[in-house]
Amino acid sequence: MRNSTELFNHYKSLVDKGLLDPEIMPTGAEIEEQFGVSRGQATHARTMLLKSGLAKPQIVHGQPLGPISDMVMAFDFLPNVMPRNENGCLLWDAGTHGDGYGRFKLNGRDVQAHQVAYEYRHGPVPEGLELDHVFARGCRSQLCVNHEHLEPVTRSENVRRGHAAKRYMAGIVVSTELDAD
Ligand SMILES: [Zn+2]
Repeated sequence: MRNSTELFNHYKSLVDKGLLDPEIMPTGAEIEEQFGVSRGQATHARTMLLKSGLAKPQIVHGQPLGPISDMVMAFDFLPNVMPRNENGCLLWDAGTHGDGYGRFKLNGRDVQAHQVAYEYRHGPVPEGLELDHVFARGCRSQLCVNHEHLEPVTRSENVRRGHAAKRYMAGIVVSTELDAD
C-alpha cells in the first residue's frame, strides 16, 4: 500500500463491500498513521475519495451539529479539556484537524471541538457565520473550547480580527485611522 491511487482503491473496495461507512471516512492523519504513508499522500488519497463522491466530507463547517446531550459532554467531551489556563482558555487535549482545530467525534461525524462547545451552550452557529476565537476576550489558541471565548462572526470579520491580532502580537502600533475598514 504505497501511493494515493492504491490507497483510494483500498478505501473504495471497503466502501463497496459495506465495510466502511462513507460518512466516517478516516482523516488524512489516520490514513497516514494506518499505512505509514506521507501526510501528502494520505491527504491526496482522501481528496480523491471526496472528489469521486465516494466519501462525504466529514468535517462539518457552518452546519448546525444537531442535539448534543449532557451525557456526551460529560463523558466524552470534557475529559479531553485541560484546566483553565492563565488566559482563561480551556484547551483541547485530544486529536486535531489538519487545520489545527480540536477534533471531536459527534454522532459518528468528525466535527470541530470548539463548535461543539459553543453549540452545546448557545445553539447553532447562525447560518453564514463562523466562530472566532476572540482575541479581545483573551483567547490565544484555536484549540480553546471555552464557549465564552467564541463568537459567531462573518468570514471577513474573522479574517480582519486575525490580522489585527497578528499586528498586536507583533507590537506594531496601527493608528485607528489606518485600521478602519
Ligand atoms: Zn480561549
